[in-house]
Amino acid sequence: MKLARYASVAARSRGRRYPEPPAPTRTAFQRDRDRIVHSTAFRRLVYKTQVFLNHEGDLFRTRLTHSLEVAQLARSIGRALALNEDLVEAIALAHDLGHTPFGHAGQDTLNECMKDHGGFEHNLQSLRVVDTLEQRYPQYDGLNLCFETREGILKHCSHANAERIEAVEPGGVAHRFLARTQPGLEAQLCNLADEIAYNAHDIDDGVRSGLITLQDVARVELFERYRNEALREYPGLEGRRLLYEAIRRMLSAQVYDVIDTTGAALESVAPLDADAVRQAPPLVAFSDPMRARSSELKRFLFDNLYRHPQVLQTTGAAQQIVRDLFACYSSVPEQMQSDYAERVESGDGPRAVADYIAGMTDRFAAHEHERLTGQKVLA
Ligand code: MG
Repeated sequence: MKLARYASVAARSRGRRYPEPPAPTRTAFQRDRDRIVHSTAFRRLVYKTQVFLNHEGDLFRTRLTHSLEVAQLARSIGRALALNEDLVEAIALAHDLGHTPFGHAGQDTLNECMKDHGGFEHNLQSLRVVDTLEQRYPQYDGLNLCFETREGILKHCSHANAERIEAVEPGGVAHRFLARTQPGLEAQLCNLADEIAYNAHDIDDGVRSGLITLQDVARVELFERYRNEALREYPGLEGRRLLYEAIRRMLSAQVYDVIDTTGAALESVAPLDADAVRQAPPLVAFSDPMRARSSELKRFLFDNLYRHPQVLQTTGAAQQIVRDLFACYSSVPEQMQSDYAERVESGDGPRAVADYIAGMTDRFAAHEHERLTGQKVLA
């Protein structure tokens, strides 16, 4: 398919940190996607929490299925806008690689443990995974991905961390946080697709878990509008089929809204190429009314699902596990895998411990905690 002139083009990539000859049958972005799919961190996503801990049920989203849903949504929007679908897929599949076990509870606790050592940010950690922590190639650490893929993976970054990255990679992936410019369209798109995906699947998982009901969600305009629409077309529809039909219609409406709004913005700004996009205001967006409705849904999920007493209870256990692991490994580094223990010896202490914990799956972290403390804090 012919790409739009403002799409990223693999042959014009700003390249890899360690130059490599092109692959005979794949573009540079297809190759990035393949490297991500074959990485260790990618396989671990299946055992990492999205909202519900992995062991709470087999049907809930995990970081892996979430990432696949983000990739699906982003690719279908990207294709409609003639953006680079391969790059979109690579960024979407990699966007959560840096997540700790136990979702946001794990991340926030690790950030607290690291507060005197530069903190912990999951977006930055995703970049660390693909840049240094994966060890698969003889010539270099990391996956040696293209600039554009790495730019999309680093979707947020504090000013202090941006300055740190800029010092070692001048004009690189962190530059935009200092210069206040935008990333390419494919990166902007993955960011929005992430929000569309979790809003929708968290309603589904929330209702399946019984923590929220269809009646609760009916208070949210974005959902209720499409539930009513489904009922008008299929009177008598109920239960899971009604839930799925409402979510399906809601997802489609958001996808078309992004395509129309972004298409109109691209027409009016008319960037000449992918670099002109970086100097323009953000271009991938919802319309104002859809932005308001999506934010309302986000707030609803925050108040009613993410802060539900039952979710908060496992959050407390997750915090304890991460805090205890951090303390144990910091005092006895030999309890970690040897390459991490060696990093502590060579002066990279707290960061090595944080990298080790961040890479864990939920169940490995829980097993390690039990092994080291003798306590079982997760049923
Ligand atoms: Mg995500």
